[in-house]
Amino acid sequence: MKKDTVVLYPAPGMGHIISMVELGKLILRHSPPNSITISILITTGPYETPAITSYITRISHTYPRSITFHRFPHLSVDTDDCSRSRAAIQFDIIRLNTLHHFSHSLHHIAQTDHHIRALVIDFFCTSAFPIAAQLRIPTYYFYTSGASALAAFFYLPKIGEQVDKSFKDLASTYLHFPGLPKLLASHLPEPVLDRNDPAYGDFIYFCSHLSKADGVIVNTFEDLEPIPVRAIADGCCVVEAPTPPVYYIGPIILDSIDEEVEKKHECLVWLDEQPNGSVLFLCFGSRGSFSEAQVREIAIGLERSEQRFLWVVRAPPRNTNLKQVSEYEEKDFDLNKVLPDGFVERTKGRGLVVKEWAPQVEVLNHKAVGGFVSHCGWNSTLEALVAGVPMIAWPLYAEQHLNRAALVEDMKMAIGVEMEEDEFVSGSELERRVRELMASEKGREMRERSIEMRERALKAWEEQGSTTFLPKADK
Ligand code: UDP
Ligand code: UDP
Repeated sequence: MKKDTVVLYPAPGMGHIISMVELGKLILRHSPPNSITISILITTGPYETPAITSYITRISHTYPRSITFHRFPHLSVDTDDCSRSRAAIQFDIIRLNTLHHFSHSLHHIAQTDHHIRALVIDFFCTSAFPIAAQLRIPTYYFYTSGASALAAFFYLPKIGEQVDKSFKDLASTYLHFPGLPKLLASHLPEPVLDRNDPAYGDFIYFCSHLSKADGVIVNTFEDLEPIPVRAIADGCCVVEAPTPPVYYIGPIILDSIDEEVEKKHECLVWLDEQPNGSVLFLCFGSRGSFSEAQVREIAIGLERSEQRFLWVVRAPPRNTNLKQVSEYEEKDFDLNKVLPDGFVERTKGRGLVVKEWAPQVEVLNHKAVGGFVSHCGWNSTLEALVAGVPMIAWPLYAEQHLNRAALVEDMKMAIGVEMEEDEFVSGSELERRVRELMASEKGREMRERSIEMRERALKAWEEQGSTTFLPKADK
């Protein structure tokens, strides 16, 4: 007899793949034992880092019968074409992979005795949408960020029609999205800033397809973002079509048992020695890196704040443009070259700097950690929330300014850093915010609110919580 399967199609990138795998596990948990399998399509090529490969291997070993990865054959695409933006190249890669490999993979899955009950695609994989529609497969979006960003993306095509300039040329204009705090036009995700960039058209195409799906599954919970959730439910965000069913199934975060642990990380050993709630953790996602000047300024701010800190520092990008972030920078840079002279010595005992990577989920859940300076990536946001750790919000790219606005203005779970025009943050500004979070009444109140939100997040995980609203696969 054929076995039912749900096909998941994540965008390339560790964050997207982890979230999809967690969604797959959730579907398995909410289905009768052995009734369904999960098939995950993986785009290979420039995005498949060694970390992704070993993660996939670990998951395949842990779920040998229920989760199967289908790697697309490698397609060679010119990723060094300087005439196109990074986002335009990414969209092209996904589109080409979809056109060449998507149908073929579905056929292969069907041929191996599987009945495809539903397809769940990442927002960036909309190129699969028309193909799935033709095959009459029920198609859901999995939106890996929150309801605030989803509300904005539902409404973005409308805002695009209302203005006749590129958003980058409306730099100091505020945009008003239903259910969201006002947002500077230049703080929209990079792919939509320039109308002449092909990525703009791709992005708007994706946004306008969200409402055509059988449903949109979102990695958040209603208590966390009640205002945008209401705006979406009231039909204020999708203007020219009915709003599709939206399922708030979060918070789903990386399961730390899926992480590769060879031995306890040095930073966890160091945290064991620190007093409860005393350490500020600074970490900027999988791609966030700063210019040398900005790294020095962070060091100055931390030193002057006199607070304990654990700081993950990545090699500065070769291009000094702050927005130019990359996963592929050299790993062997010399920390001493980027930190101020004598910084490590002077902060010894109360501060630890680690290169490149720290086990973030474990760090946030360590009792010594009392605050988090974050780039507001959605996974980081949910991880901090589930750990009950309040934040200083320092958005860098993608939809992070939208997340920042929600965190600072609606949820009151983060303090925003004030940025200068070129998005530089001075040492004295950081010092002020660090003291505010770690050593003031406001910080104490935020910590209490974070712990309260943690309780609600844990409730959402319970049997009757929001995770049970998963769409039925055979609608
Ligand atoms: N992005 C994109 N296409 C993709 C994945 C990501 O254009 O398939 C863009 C997205 O708009 C954002 C950036 O890449 O500007 C990083 O996205 P995210 O941080 O969510 O991806 P990850 O770092 O997890 O790969
Ligand atoms: N992460 C980590 N250690 C690091 C940097 C990142 O474990 O030093 C993990 C973090 O816990 C989160 C993910 O990488 O799960 C980053 O995802 P997020 O959506 O916050 O940001 P992105 O990397 O997509 O910008």
